Amino acid sequence: MNEISTTCPYCGVGCGVLASAGAGETAVVRGDPEHPSNYGRLCSKGAALGETVDLDGRLLYPQISGQRVSWDAALDHVAAGFRRIISEHGPDAVAFYVSGQLLTEDYYVANKLMKGFIGSANIDTNSRLCMSSSVAGHKRAFGSDTVPGCYEDLEQAELLVLVGSNAAWCHPVLFQRIRAAKEQHPERKLIVIDPRRTATCDIADLHLPVKSGSDAVLFNGLLTYLFQNGRVDFNYLEAATEGYGRALQAARDSAASIPTVAAACGIAEQDLARFYHLFATTERVVTIYSQGVNQSSSGTDKVNAVINCHLATGRIGRPGMGPFSVTGQPNAMGGREVGGLANQLAAHMDFDNPRHVGSVRRFWQAPNMATRPGLKAVDMFRAVDDGRIKAIWIMATNPVVSLPDADRVREALRKCELVVVSDCIANTDTTACSQVLLPAAAWGEKDGTVTNSERRISRQRTFLPTAGEARPDWWMVCEVAKRLGHGQAFAFQSPTQIFREHAALSGFENDGARDFDLSGLVSISDDDYTRLRPVQWPVTSAQGLGTNRMFSDGKFFTPSRKARFIAVDPRLPANSPNDEFPMVLNTGRVRDHWHTLTRTGKSPRLSAHTLEPYAELHPRDAARLHINDGALLRLYSRWGWMIARAAISDAQRPGSVFVPMHWNAQFAARGRVGALVNPETDPVSGQPESKHTPVRVEPYAPKWQGFIISRRPLNLPVLDYWVVAVGRQFWRYELASETLPEKWGPWARKLLCADDRAHAEWVEYLDGAAGRYRGARLVGNRLDSCLFVANNQNLPPRTWLGQLFAQENLSKQDRMSLLMGVPSKDHADGGRVVCSCFGVGINTLTAAIRDEGLETVEAIGKNLKAGTNCGSCIPELKALIKEAGARKVS
Ligand code: SF4
Repeated sequence: MNEISTTCPYCGVGCGVLASAGAGETAVVRGDPEHPSNYGRLCSKGAALGETVDLDGRLLYPQISGQRVSWDAALDHVAAGFRRIISEHGPDAVAFYVSGQLLTEDYYVANKLMKGFIGSANIDTNSRLCMSSSVAGHKRAFGSDTVPGCYEDLEQAELLVLVGSNAAWCHPVLFQRIRAAKEQHPERKLIVIDPRRTATCDIADLHLPVKSGSDAVLFNGLLTYLFQNGRVDFNYLEAATEGYGRALQAARDSAASIPTVAAACGIAEQDLARFYHLFATTERVVTIYSQGVNQSSSGTDKVNAVINCHLATGRIGRPGMGPFSVTGQPNAMGGREVGGLANQLAAHMDFDNPRHVGSVRRFWQAPNMATRPGLKAVDMFRAVDDGRIKAIWIMATNPVVSLPDADRVREALRKCELVVVSDCIANTDTTACSQVLLPAAAWGEKDGTVTNSERRISRQRTFLPTAGEARPDWWMVCEVAKRLGHGQAFAFQSPTQIFREHAALSGFENDGARDFDLSGLVSISDDDYTRLRPVQWPVTSAQGLGTNRMFSDGKFFTPSRKARFIAVDPRLPANSPNDEFPMVLNTGRVRDHWHTLTRTGKSPRLSAHTLEPYAELHPRDAARLHINDGALLRLYSRWGWMIARAAISDAQRPGSVFVPMHWNAQFAARGRVGALVNPETDPVSGQPESKHTPVRVEPYAPKWQGFIISRRPLNLPVLDYWVVAVGRQFWRYELASETLPEKWGPWARKLLCADDRAHAEWVEYLDGAAGRYRGARLVGNRLDSCLFVANNQNLPPRTWLGQLFAQENLSKQDRMSLLMGVPSKDHADGGRVVCSCFGVGINTLTAAIRDEGLETVEAIGKNLKAGTNCGSCIPELKALIKEAGARKVS
């Protein structure tokens, strides 16, 4: 087996993967034991990568207005469109919207073309939505966008504080490293600060379920507490920082005491006091934060409120301590390095520094250097909407799903003169709004570098043949640049050549003034680039092996070389709940899905964990709204509405509702939460308020609900609600509608028996009075499809029926149980899948825990294998053991 060492394309942990082409259109993957990010581990998503590389749904050829064209025709069309619009309306009438899925080399040429040659800074990345507040906070505090620490710090810390970070689901391998360190050192403490009780709380010593948006008060309170309790390191303050007095004053004004802060954050005083005491008295503290902090209209202030506390205690730049922003996407960091954000120039240089603008102009020999920032993501699509931007090239991202106020984004694109989308997937909500489609090489086909959350640059390498006529993104950008008359500056023949130029720019006129410096890699040979081992920047001639920790010398990258405290005046979220929209919507990820499902939605094992968009509500809210667990509900905000399945849980704060971000028009009708999300942004970072949208929740009572399981994908008629998920040998559709068909039998047969099959047989059962219908098609005694309908949510278990699709022959008993809608005793319903790797369901686990007396995760692993591969399900296994224990006691 020819294994290639590459990097996982999902989250910012940046795990190393050993991959090879498998049978058919699959890949065989395992964790790279030598990669320093994961040392062989993979989470459920990484472990299922092999199921996502097939060509089903791939965009294989260039298209203009739905017609296949040659690459030359497509690229000529794009270049001509951009040239015409630039000449008629100026360079700011065009834009690129790029992505943390791009490789650094793709990003580099896109940024160079827009900022140096087109002459606009209208290039922004979807990383704007996940971590731009961290970038802004870093720059305010350190003078540079620098993550100070490394993953070892998380294992060396005596106290880990996770703020707005469900690492167990969103950065699972990092969480596994943290868990392992805690198991080795049980005396170490872990605190989770999050409005929700998430899977990360599984190993927490303390959970602070703060009110949404109150993080800045919490950390201002900590800054006050550190001062009041004599825990400030004044020597460090004097030597390495500035602005402490103003920051402390602002903290005391807004968060003077534990009772004030506890009330503002909605938490118990003794819990708050415990957190402050632990932080104050523990030397090695790391504060990890991610989207819960960043995705806010005051996200930058929240980031600085966290950093202030580390500066006040001098806990930065040393082993086991520091503020630690973890990024969402595999190459969000690479985008920051090249200048993929509209307010950055390139190589960590800035528009507001004329020397930087001059350096980049000279280095690129740029004829049309942009000299001021461009439009950030939300503003960029507003400019598309109002016609200021007339041409946009969207690369490797799906803004019609992921941006806030997403319906408006869709409308904006529909009326835009020229929308070009380069993607590896043919049908997305965004490709549906484009005129030109350019097929991009996918993971496994492309070659380049990515940077993870700890500044570690790793290679993504090719191990699969390129699909159809797909090409790397960097190649497309260079081809368009050539057609715009910039051939010489974009004459790259390989990602290696681009990487060398990127490294050279980072060192150009640098003299130690900028920490993003890859000058040690400027002369990297083609062979050395091929073999490049993971390395953390800066990589200079003096630090040829990279740098694991920054700021150890107490020197920063501000003009004074001192770190800056920022005075934080906490602000409430931009839109508060009101009579019309009394609850707060929070959005985020689920364990086994990634972004807008374009990749993980192809994997049966990943799709089995969460089948539908859901809305998690506190039991008190559910009771008040007369909503049962598993019922359908509607959510409304000022910007849009959606339908989701209710999940009732006391993990939610009363008044809050959580909805996952993944579903879109390809996988669900009305499942796109982005349509509801508040488009308010942080004034410094431009990051939207994705964690705080006022909403109204209402029960939804359609005339009927049902589901279909079919061996083939279906063309559904128009329905008010549907969701599709792929299974092992079937597609599963959840359905609901306010309109009843005239007769169920003909409706079902038209949908499921359209193809003529020998030995096909349709069996059905109707109880009109009870509003119940069941139908199944058997082909040669093998289950081909089935439909179950009721006038409420009480429908047969789906997992059992899914199991029947694995059988070549149904027994008499199976046939009877099929129409009865009750599993036979030979086919117990395993229930919703908890362990994706081994397909172990919740009913199987609950029964084994009860009947076999399993009391540990290890015992479950021995019995059922669950939890013994990637470990992503361990928090859920522990929760099941705990629930069983509680049931026994009661
Ligand atoms: Fe991929 Fe999982 Fe590692 Fe993230 S934690 S990089 S999703 S394997």
